[in-house]
Amino acid sequence: MRAAGPVPVNLYGLEEEALAALLAPLDPARFRARQVFAWLYARRVTDPSAWTDLPKALRAELAARFAPLPPRVAARHAASDGTVKFVLELPKGGQVEAVAIPAEERMTFCISSQVGCGFGCAFCMTAKLGFTRNLDPGEIVGQVAALLAETGTPAGEYNIVFMGMGEPLQNVENVLAALRILTHERGFGLGPRRITVSTVGLPKGIRRLAQEPVVPRLAVSLVAADAEVRRSLMPVARTVALEELADAVREFGEGRRDEPTLECVMLDGVNDAPELAHKLAKLARRAGAKVNLIEFNPTPALPFRPSPEARLEFFLRVLSAAGVVGTVRRSRGKDAFAACGQLAFLQKP
Ligand code: SAH
Repeated sequence: MRAAGPVPVNLYGLEEEALAALLAPLDPARFRARQVFAWLYARRVTDPSAWTDLPKALRAELAARFAPLPPRVAARHAASDGTVKFVLELPKGGQVEAVAIPAEERMTFCISSQVGCGFGCAFCMTAKLGFTRNLDPGEIVGQVAALLAETGTPAGEYNIVFMGMGEPLQNVENVLAALRILTHERGFGLGPRRITVSTVGLPKGIRRLAQEPVVPRLAVSLVAADAEVRRSLMPVARTVALEELADAVREFGEGRRDEPTLECVMLDGVNDAPELAHKLAKLARRAGAKVNLIEFNPTPALPFRPSPEARLEFFLRVLSAAGVVGTVRRSRGKDAFAACGQLAFLQKP
């Protein structure tokens, strides 16, 4: 038990500059912040008394004043395909889910950016939770640390997708701070091209992301290239026009190696009509983007069914004929409610 006294400051999620400001009164050596940064994010040791390249007295002082507090695993749910969903308890309160998705050649971590989500997309279960709060940078990178430890994944050999709970670009500054820690060579050391930020499509957030010196891949949940259909499924489409969104995506991709992606979760009889395939091809060309068709993951609470395979194939043919790269994202982790759009603390019955 910690002795009663001032509540220790949570160091987890701070960048070098903020660490330096906290450490300066305790130790004049400027490299201390670098050492602490490496312990937190490269070595991922969160007990200050184990930071062996620091003087003993400083370690004791840090242990007394600071408590690096990453999220803690509260539950794990394994699906039959090897996907594992983790429920993470946040030190500041609340829970989020994060998912480890193994594939032959790589591991992917799907992480959350908010507790709940306020965007109300009709096909997504997280929407039913409503919005509680933004995650701070430590709560974001801490999900990655927890999944690395739980899965024994080697450093640097995994991908991250911001496709869990929440809208990353509504929490853009904290997400950017987390990206800086994840890609920092003395942090998690992950290549920026291994990270994808997926958004409902907030042009301002997309432009902010593009200003960063180190930029991840961008995916936009378009869902339908028709204003009326999109508005009927995604309330955000009432305030963002398709053309404005396509132009923000194009600007983001200009001069970059990776084309942005437009994601479309395919709903039977809702957004899979033939003319929507043609509209999608046209919009993707305007946006300079490729297209990822997503298999819909049903839950009993949602009134949609996945599009039949033949419809997906039709879309792929139309895209290909228009010179747009199209792929299908197959569902993973469905039987543990770990798949896209299922993150709402649901459990197998
Ligand atoms: N808010 C962000 C990230 C979370 S959603 C965004 O909107 O992109 C991540 C992806 O899951 C989105 O592309 C979304 O369209 C998709 N998705 C949501 N519900 C789904 C469901 N039930 N089945 C399949 N994909 C779904």
